Amino acid sequence: MGDAFFTPVSGLDLPRFAGVPTFMRLPHVPPGHARFAEVDVGLIGAPWDGGTTNRPGPRHGPRQLRDLSTMIRAVNGETWVAPFDLVNCADLGDVSPNPGDLMDSLARMETFYDGVVAAGIRPLTGGGDHLCTLPILRAVAKKRPVGLIQFDSHTDLNDVYFGNARYTHGTPFRRAMEEGLIDPRRYVLIGIRGTAYGREDWDFAEANGIRIIPVGEFHRRGAADVMAEAREIAGTGPTYVTYDIDFVDPTFAPGTGTPEVGGPSSWQALEVARGLRGLDIVGADLVEVSPPFDAAGGTAWLGVSLMFEMLCSMAEAVVRSR
Ligand code: MN
Ligand code: MN
Repeated sequence: MGDAFFTPVSGLDLPRFAGVPTFMRLPHVPPGHARFAEVDVGLIGAPWDGGTTNRPGPRHGPRQLRDLSTMIRAVNGETWVAPFDLVNCADLGDVSPNPGDLMDSLARMETFYDGVVAAGIRPLTGGGDHLCTLPILRAVAKKRPVGLIQFDSHTDLNDVYFGNARYTHGTPFRRAMEEGLIDPRRYVLIGIRGTAYGREDWDFAEANGIRIIPVGEFHRRGAADVMAEAREIAGTGPTYVTYDIDFVDPTFAPGTGTPEVGGPSSWQALEVARGLRGLDIVGADLVEVSPPFDAAGGTAWLGVSLMFEMLCSMAEAVVRSR
């Protein structure tokens, strides 16, 4: 059962627009805190966009996500899951990147997440650009490869940019595959669309047995059917979920650097997140929210709403693992 210490501040005790904003109004329990090891699911900010190749800004994501997350209430009104009653959740604070050094940033993030995983905490990260997922996977998949469910309009399976840039937000899963962090037979990408530089990333996926469900197939089949297949692919083993907000149509999520039209609605975005129920989710992230392009905060609001849905499934996974 959840501990009262780990219960969010209720909007009935302190209005939700008041107070210091942590993720979902949870207690701030950074590494070194006396109760750090009691956390089951840790919400983490990754304020870094050093891998961004076009319009930047996700380094400002965690602050805006935390601000908008104060509107999240404690009970899921669709599934009636109450994650804070099931497990101990806390805001672990931000991982600190090195704004002037990409490789050092990756190393610092991996070290931070190593500590989280060693404490038995399942991380739920608000990014940050999609390159942030690589050091998280290095920590989460240190002992064995994980299954991966990726919601995105891009594969992020590219090899290099400009002939030599191997670490960008368009390459994290290519590197993760090379490093043996992902089991390709348990890897599915959902929502891929838009224009491309070429077919190299798709060829790589096909050669490695990675399943891509492009957005046209998603629209024809619907969220429930697609997620049934995704759960079958990921299976019962440890699975990581990475959710790029640009999976969602820019009508609903304009505040991101590389939008692609023709995407799912905000309702479909929530539906696929709910379709994660039953999986052994060992970690998850929501990345690529870019506040400079999110003037009204609607993209961040959708982002934290998706984080809450993923948190509900992660809490249920923790309970099943006991
Ligand atoms: Mn993307
Ligand atoms: Mn991405």
